[in-house]
Amino acid sequence: MKYFLSVAASLIIYIILVGFQNQPEKFNPKPETVTKVKTLLSEMTLEEKIGQMTQVTIQVVSAKQGTKDQHHVLDEKKLEEAVVKYKVGSLLNVYDVAHEIDYWHEIINKIQNLAVNETRLGIPVLYGIDAIHGATYTKGSTLFPQGINMAATWNKELVEKIGEITSYETRASGIPWNFYPVMDIGRQPLWPRLWETYGEDVFLASQTGAAYIKGAQGNNIGASDKLAVCLKHYVGYGFPNNGRDRTPAWISERMMREYFLPTFEAGINAGAPTVMVNSGEVDGIPTHSDYHLLTEVLRGEMNFKGFVVSDWEDIKRLHTRDRVAETPKEAVRMAVMAGVDMSMIPLDYSFYDLLLELVNEGSVPMWRIDEAVGRILTVKMELGLFDNPFPDKKMKGKFANDEFRKVNLQAARESIILTKNDNNLLPLSKDTRVLVTGPAANMLSVMNGGWTITWQGNEESLYPHENNTVLEAIKDKISSENVTYIEGTSFNEEINIDEAVRAANQNDVVVLCLGEAAYCETPGNITDLTLDAAQLELAEKIMGTGKPVILIMLEGRPRVINKIVDGADAVLVAFLPGMEGGNALADIIFGDYSPGGKLPVSYPKYPNGNTTYDYKPLEKFDTNEYDPQWAFGYGLSYSSFGYSNLKLDQKEIKEADVLGVSVDVTNTGKVESSEVVQLYLCDLYGSVSRPNKQLKGYEKVLMKPGETKTINFKINKDHLSFIGRDNKRIVEPGEFEVMINNLKDKFVLKETAAGK
Ligand code: BGC
Repeated sequence: MKYFLSVAASLIIYIILVGFQNQPEKFNPKPETVTKVKTLLSEMTLEEKIGQMTQVTIQVVSAKQGTKDQHHVLDEKKLEEAVVKYKVGSLLNVYDVAHEIDYWHEIINKIQNLAVNETRLGIPVLYGIDAIHGATYTKGSTLFPQGINMAATWNKELVEKIGEITSYETRASGIPWNFYPVMDIGRQPLWPRLWETYGEDVFLASQTGAAYIKGAQGNNIGASDKLAVCLKHYVGYGFPNNGRDRTPAWISERMMREYFLPTFEAGINAGAPTVMVNSGEVDGIPTHSDYHLLTEVLRGEMNFKGFVVSDWEDIKRLHTRDRVAETPKEAVRMAVMAGVDMSMIPLDYSFYDLLLELVNEGSVPMWRIDEAVGRILTVKMELGLFDNPFPDKKMKGKFANDEFRKVNLQAARESIILTKNDNNLLPLSKDTRVLVTGPAANMLSVMNGGWTITWQGNEESLYPHENNTVLEAIKDKISSENVTYIEGTSFNEEINIDEAVRAANQNDVVVLCLGEAAYCETPGNITDLTLDAAQLELAEKIMGTGKPVILIMLEGRPRVINKIVDGADAVLVAFLPGMEGGNALADIIFGDYSPGGKLPVSYPKYPNGNTTYDYKPLEKFDTNEYDPQWAFGYGLSYSSFGYSNLKLDQKEIKEADVLGVSVDVTNTGKVESSEVVQLYLCDLYGSVSRPNKQLKGYEKVLMKPGETKTINFKINKDHLSFIGRDNKRIVEPGEFEVMINNLKDKFVLKETAAGK
């Protein structure tokens, strides 16, 4: 018995240890790395050090730009200048279209051969890329749903898997550094990068981002199929006041700590070794010059041990655009002293020259250079680049394999949100005669958005046409004789609306595909959240026929469609579901898959209706109300779910206690379907006005008809905390309401360490 107990105890200890090992931790270099970096630093000249802090884009070392009609060509002389003369620490990007995996190997081999064999110390180069939704810039890669869709799955395991596959395919291309995930919070629906985020909620975005990092990095970024992620854009970038990209944000210290910093902290706690800076400004301080955020908060409070890279040209812009630096040199000094370790200059070597002058003059101290370079070398070493910086040819074998495609299809299916289904119009039977119409019906780019093959993602001719558009997927699913296609309009101009109306009259059902053409960053700015007039007109005329209409929205942000929602019998908000989006939509429309996505943002009903679900009391007072088209967390399926037995294991807790909450969920419908059980809390009274409710737990469950499952949650003091009047995180005693679906209960937090 004794023996048995000791074996059992060892087993438990082993499970705990292994369990811990599998839990990603904060990036913290191994002691031997610290020693090696110290030695290497002591051997480096100032020029070699400043080279490490310098990052240029591949355009700088190119002889020919890649376009749809011509292949990219490297300029070997210029490459030598970058790597050998300037000793750059890093290169990035493509110029301007995705490469074949073999060509990536050729480029990376050339770069690393120069770095390793032709420089005095043989320090490898760190190549960085925006592998936003898969290996964006490698031809034929697995391109997943975009960030907003990943959040709509509410499925952490799936997001983790996508992180894993993206790392595999990026690393297989020879690239070990990914400028992703975007940890900006999506609380400004006009912002043209909303779709890169994990939505409007701090908790959902933090959980989704951490799951992605876990998959992308595992617990060792040096493993051959892992890479280093880069959290961006630290911090406040996603909340421009006027909704346009790279325009000022006004965020008080309290709001910064409540809504914007926590997602980054979650990313750092999940092990991110690099962070990219917000390209804009917060409260009048361009972030690239913000010592408080880049050093006091990021290093001092969050204990971040990796390195910070600037965003594109943003150090220069402290002088040329923001005018907080009177000269380009002062801009470099400001950024480096604020805490930027590497400059994405990225089109010349001015940063290198100016920083050299600054150190020689004594305006930037040597300790700061050593600190920055030490951090960069540490990441390179932990990535294993000093052992082997070359691409691994063998990895090509598994690149974009069928298993990865299946995960992609599942991700697309899980990310699509059914927001309306009057009289159970959906699913359709497979002998329905369908008119497919609208500008989004027959394009792959509209399902993928920016950062796909090219930066803007809008070069349709470069897309892999073996993938299905919505129209092609519907034709594959049912007899193509039963499918008619009339375009109707482009995104903003009428083409043949009358013809589409005539065809609607001759069919049983209309699948109306509307949305936005692909865009990214500033080119995606808009002045009106309402969907383009031409598309609304097509919709209204089609709806005028009285035929049942299924509206599909393929878009990067929730464009206002209130004029046509009533006329649609069913609505599928698909956002940007990626290369398998067409197949996933066809599966859902014809009943081969029951949708289960839930909105990760509030879908506004009005252009000015951008109230988030966690609104303050003032926003539901007098004539104010939270009146979205569809609320955050909302989404239907082909089944129905009943909630019962909400139980709290205590009615009164102390600060250190953990409150157990459980609820029974039953699939009361007729098909197997998933449900996302969402736990919200409301702190009834507080010294700072408390939000209506806040998500504090969720679990996605797949359930057979008639099945009941008990779902358990644990609430601790972190879930109850908020940023108080003194801008510090606090917990206050008082009453809290727990809400799960239509059920509610209350508990009291009796005592806190600080008291009231
Ligand atoms: C974007 C970043 C991106 C960088 C490099 C910038 O314009 O803001 O998100 O990582 O370019 O491509």
